[in-house]
Amino acid sequence: MLEGRELAAFRKQLLGWFRQFQRDLPWRRTADPYRIWLSEIMLQQTRVAAAIPYYERFLERFPDVHALATAQQEDVLRLWSGLGYYSRARNLQKAAQQIVAKHGGQFPARLEDALALPGIGNYTAAAILSIAFGEKLAVLDGNVARVLARLGAVRGDLRESKRWQDLQKTADRLLERQSPGDWNQAMMELGATLCTPKSPQCLLCPVMQFCEGRKLGIAESLPEKRKKRATVEVTLAAAVFTDRKGRTLLLPPPKDAGEKASADHVPTLVSKMWHFPTLSVTGDPAAILLAFLRKQFPNVQITKPQLTPVGKIRHAVTYRAITILPFLIGLRTLPRASGAKQVPLGDVSSLPVSNLTRKVAQAVLALVPANR
Ligand code: SF4
Repeated sequence: MLEGRELAAFRKQLLGWFRQFQRDLPWRRTADPYRIWLSEIMLQQTRVAAAIPYYERFLERFPDVHALATAQQEDVLRLWSGLGYYSRARNLQKAAQQIVAKHGGQFPARLEDALALPGIGNYTAAAILSIAFGEKLAVLDGNVARVLARLGAVRGDLRESKRWQDLQKTADRLLERQSPGDWNQAMMELGATLCTPKSPQCLLCPVMQFCEGRKLGIAESLPEKRKKRATVEVTLAAAVFTDRKGRTLLLPPPKDAGEKASADHVPTLVSKMWHFPTLSVTGDPAAILLAFLRKQFPNVQITKPQLTPVGKIRHAVTYRAITILPFLIGLRTLPRASGAKQVPLGDVSSLPVSNLTRKVAQAVLALVPANR
């Protein structure tokens, strides 16, 4: 652990490097907590380059907390569509509503208040409060943990509770207290640009002389591999109705029943968004789907020969390896169902849909032109 002069030199070198070489990113040109918060949420599961256009479009439509708090959830999800992990967008809006109701529309500067908002955990709170308000809070996420593990030659699974707590203590001790926002961003920048998961560029690193992992020649092998959760195979069958105008039928976002999601929980797999009639299947998928559709749409006569299989689609959601079997069902008029909508098959993204639903639509469109 660095101390005294060494610690001072470490801080100076890393901060100096960051201030000279940091990437010009849109959320670094603002001190507005709302914008910083949005960027932190978007970047949780998304690469910087992919997040930038979403970030800019989102702010054009919702330039402040009030605009987001009063928006239709559907509009928020539509602008998030494609980024995945949609609970982030739902929580973002819920938090905006709480900020308006409880904090006069200002992002709270107190840690306890920030942590009480939906979707904000220790890492996000520390990032926002240090960058926007200069609070002396050190961030720790997977990226920063990797850097710290290499600097200190820390072995083992970093996510194990005790080891993670120790890493947080190390991050707290290293924090440069005059500029905590810049410091946190410098640590993240190092992890994102030089101390990357594969092939760290140690020769360009501003703090290489302090790095135990490099000295021992083990930097690249750190952090050590985590035990991976076993992959679970899930098979879904999806009904893609089409009428003569090339329209299809989407069911509304499933209500959150609060149940614990099993591996084949369809609402989870469609990210609780608009979706084709879908169910988990084993055995004869066409027969199971047919029985499901007859129950779901009792007024429509559907027979097995009307179900045209459209191959197999592969999709992954966390530990699940999903095979989707879409079935095209051409009808004169689309079935009616409570809350369902009819949209052009070539334009399912006019509603908030998950990547899974988009993939199904694309597979069917490859087989049938959108406007027959
Ligand atoms: S010297 Fe290499 S391993 Fe160590 S912090 Fe720098 S980039 Fe990472």
